[in-house]
Amino acid sequence: MTDCLFCKIVSGDVPAEIVRSDARVIAFRDINPQAPTHVLVIPREHHPTVAEVAAADPGLLSEVVAEAHRVAQDEGIADSGYRLVFNTGAQAGQTVFHVHAHVLGGRGLNWPPG
Ligand code: AMP
Ligand code: ZN
Repeated sequence: MTDCLFCKIVSGDVPAEIVRSDARVIAFRDINPQAPTHVLVIPREHHPTVAEVAAADPGLLSEVVAEAHRVAQDEGIADSGYRLVFNTGAQAGQTVFHVHAHVLGGRGLNWPPG
């Protein structure tokens, strides 16, 4: 996927602040953070959406989730709590069609309300 932004981050053609990296998954800081911790976790392999990686390689999705938890531990928010978001489709706000988990935390996340 030569025109995929996140494939270019995987290949090193686009710079990113990488916080964790292993053979199958990398994590880097979101360029436009919405919370004190806002890290994106992606598989190195290109899959457009969470549903597609779940169908094609459920073990890989599990690695993304496990890596997201390790990011939360590194950031000191694993116990206080964090949100894991996979936007899916344009109306949900997905702008990059290389599956990514948003790891958000470090402040109160006012949802659901009450
Ligand atoms: P989504 O809207 O769920 O597709 O999320 C895409 C995310 O990628 C957004 O939160 C953007 O701020 C983030 N983003 C876009 N370009 C970059 C980049 N070059 N490095 C890091 N994060 C990026
Ligand atoms: Zn890609």
